[in-house]
Amino acid sequence: MLLETQEISKEFGKLRAVSRVSLGISKGDIHAIIGPNGAGKSTYFNLITGYHRATSGRVLFKGKEITGLPAYRRCRLGITRSFQITSIYPKLTVYESVLMALLSQRKVTLTFFSPAKKFFREEVWGILEDVGLADQASTLGDSISHGDKKRLELAVTLGTEPELLLLDEPTCGMSLEETEVIMGLIKKLSVERGLTILFTEHDMSVVFGIARRISVLHQGALIADGSPEEVRASEEVQKVYLGGST
Ligand code: ADP
Ligand code: MG
Repeated sequence: MLLETQEISKEFGKLRAVSRVSLGISKGDIHAIIGPNGAGKSTYFNLITGYHRATSGRVLFKGKEITGLPAYRRCRLGITRSFQITSIYPKLTVYESVLMALLSQRKVTLTFFSPAKKFFREEVWGILEDVGLADQASTLGDSISHGDKKRLELAVTLGTEPELLLLDEPTCGMSLEETEVIMGLIKKLSVERGLTILFTEHDMSVVFGIARRISVLHQGALIADGSPEEVRASEEVQKVYLGGST
């Protein structure tokens, strides 16, 4: 397992937002967490990234306990989230934005900016090609289209060298067409870069179209976990969540 949560819980006062969730995320998997609004999906993600501290339970990454580590340390280990903070610098070009992400991940100081620039050139181009932005490399961040901004966010995220990429409703507010493009890109990145992806998404056609494994939360607890077929067939899932609509 790349990542494992063991009996992890998060309480906000009397509310138990995540309740004793034990789950393993396999390397290279595209794993969806689903559940109705308020089920605890975002809170669960925050326990993994370190934005929230667990009330009880443990988080392991590559077999090592990371439960008490702050978010930036987890990020350095390769646990990254995307699409939550807009990470686009409007006055930098697309190329420079990705370069900045690489430099900050490698802790390269600006004193060494010039030589480092050359050193990272191939990596920046590799990322831009992977996300389909190579032809926009010299365009300013605020001049590109909305869809390309999503690609740029993904490119900047790749610059932080993630191993586990968490996407909390990555296509929120996007058109169906844009959603398909971004989810297709995410799938491609997972295959080509060996990225492990954990995502939430409210559109079930997207979830069932892309996920290889699905875990279902309901009132903070894990009520089902398995292949899309297994989850679709689960009576409990149909009862509390899908409501027979899929
Ligand atoms: P989901 O992402 O599945 O919609 P959340 O994880 O955002 O669910 O929320 C789970 C529950 O925890 C909800 O009842 C929500 O109101 C509550 N909650 C989430 N974050 C906080 C917080 N920072 N403080 C208090 N309650 C919270
Ligand atoms: Mg949420």
